[in-house]
Amino acid sequence: MARIPDSVIAEVLNRADIADVVGSYVSLKSKGGSLWACCPFHGEKTPSFSVNPKMGIFHCFGCNKGGNAIGFIMEYERLSYPEAIRFLADKYGVEIPDSRFDNEDDKLRKAKERVYGILKEACKYFYYSLYDEDKGREAMEYATSRGLDSNTLKHFGIGFAPDEWDGLYNTVRALGYTDEEMMQSGLFTRTKNGNVVDLFRKRLMFPIFDVRDNIIAFGGRAIEKDEDRKYINSPDSLVYNKKKHLYALNWAKKEKSGQIIIVEGYMDAIAMHRAGFRNTVASLGTAFTDDQLKLCARYTNNGEVVFFFDADRAGQMAAIRAIPMMCDFLRKNDKSHIRIKIAKVPDGKDPDEFIKANGAEAFAQVVKNALYVEDYLLDRAYNDNLDRSSGLDSGKYQEDVCLYGSWLTDEIARSKMANAAANKLGASADAVLKQMDALSSRKASYEDLENARRADRAKQADIESRNREIVQTEESITDQVSETVVSDLATNDEIMLFAYAMSLQERLTDPAVLNKTDILRPSDFSGDTMKTIVKRFLELYNEESGVPFALMMDTFREVTINGTPSEVVLAKACGKAMDSGNTLSRRDMYLGHLYRIRIKAIEDRERLLIDRYSLATGDDKDRIRQELQKIAEYKDQLMKAGNSL
Ligand SMILES: [Zn+2]
Repeated sequence: MARIPDSVIAEVLNRADIADVVGSYVSLKSKGGSLWACCPFHGEKTPSFSVNPKMGIFHCFGCNKGGNAIGFIMEYERLSYPEAIRFLADKYGVEIPDSRFDNEDDKLRKAKERVYGILKEACKYFYYSLYDEDKGREAMEYATSRGLDSNTLKHFGIGFAPDEWDGLYNTVRALGYTDEEMMQSGLFTRTKNGNVVDLFRKRLMFPIFDVRDNIIAFGGRAIEKDEDRKYINSPDSLVYNKKKHLYALNWAKKEKSGQIIIVEGYMDAIAMHRAGFRNTVASLGTAFTDDQLKLCARYTNNGEVVFFFDADRAGQMAAIRAIPMMCDFLRKNDKSHIRIKIAKVPDGKDPDEFIKANGAEAFAQVVKNALYVEDYLLDRAYNDNLDRSSGLDSGKYQEDVCLYGSWLTDEIARSKMANAAANKLGASADAVLKQMDALSSRKASYEDLENARRADRAKQADIESRNREIVQTEESITDQVSETVVSDLATNDEIMLFAYAMSLQERLTDPAVLNKTDILRPSDFSGDTMKTIVKRFLELYNEESGVPFALMMDTFREVTINGTPSEVVLAKACGKAMDSGNTLSRRDMYLGHLYRIRIKAIEDRERLLIDRYSLATGDDKDRIRQELQKIAEYKDQLMKAGNSL
């Protein structure tokens, strides 16, 4: 595929003024340093959607969407990244050269080859460890208890990561791979002291393949019940993006059955394959994405996609979140001929349990009984609001059913739903349809409905706002929990430090504003992600002296910070930074964060040296004493500088 050259992207972002881009869809009003509007992405009456023309970004404080002009167009026009660039290039008269560019430069391709090599070696290592009579005994007992026989273990390449910090590390290292390469594989993590160690320990390991049969990641399942995280998956890496792959698709695609079954976990997928449903794939510990749906569409040749969601509340909420995305996908890709069905395992079991208890034939019936999306939603709306004693809550039923109907892009399906609902409500189908259409043009989501209900319940305005806060905290907590691997967290201080640095723009290196020693450094940041971002920022900065924020975000559009797309995190932080006053007050905020971070780093180092000091002898002792002395002086300076802010 032809890649759009970076210079073109920079030019597009340069010409496509964010206020102009957004302003052609919603009307913006100026307040403070920003422009405000009611958010086009979630229903609201008071504006919480802000545009910062100086930084070239938008951010919604309500639904947390944010990004640059390209991001806005992707979201609003439902376009892919290259499509959005072309869209803007067209509109703002930037020419995209027609020549075909290389897919990836040679260096990147080679780096990927190395990572594939590491992952393959890791797979072997895990496999042999499982069969190691000593190290692997407990894991083998567990695997056997879960019904994984030797054929299954072999077919799926299942292995075991022993309870060691350096087992895999030493194995891979001995084969000549560097720490850097190992970090890119997603199988290792760095300790506080910078040592590279194994990420997966004491877990059953499931290799994840891409459709070309390369191993690209692993899922690790705890073999002990009390382990607090049952599943850990590889984080996104040089070769793996969890949103763009499906477990077992490499096998499922060979079935060519015109149908793909999607389950939530790889144990379920394996159970289904063993029971003969080899067209099953599993999403990889994340909400189902449209990239994954695209894969399904491709490999079913636009046939049928059957979803299994867990019967518990989390699984059913996942269904309600996934359905509007799927309907949207069908509309924007003109794929309304793919049939999407939702299946439900009886008695709240998961597929694995059900097959064990009832056999493959019974399960085939379950697959057959899967409902079309509109029928599933109708059932949901009815059953969710049915109370055994008081009957159907028709107010809530109406709300649910109208919302669900608004998601459907197929008009026949929508009117079918409206008819059925009208019957239950004793209303005309026309009235129901009208309501569905109204919600559809507002792009209403389930969250909107939940929020409205929450607001209804809260009598006073302050209770209302408190509730919202609680919900947000809960969401951020679940976000953290569901993000399975956190190998390099960025602290809030670090994110804000970077945001303030960006907000200073070309003044960051102005000696009248900042001393040279007070310019941020990659080493001020603890995690690899932030280090990389800051390093690239400084490189870009030195090329251009001041980096257009929108361009900066674009450079890191694939990167996540603490599990959230960096675009969202940085847009929010930078919006906050820009709103905090003039250059000098932003400078002071910047320094406050910088000193706090540096003092903390110094204190960590100090503690380490003091530990070493007690063990050291002779010259070493002197050297450590000198360093401690220097550190104390530097810390003193920083404290003073911090206090004078
Ligand atoms: Zn919003």
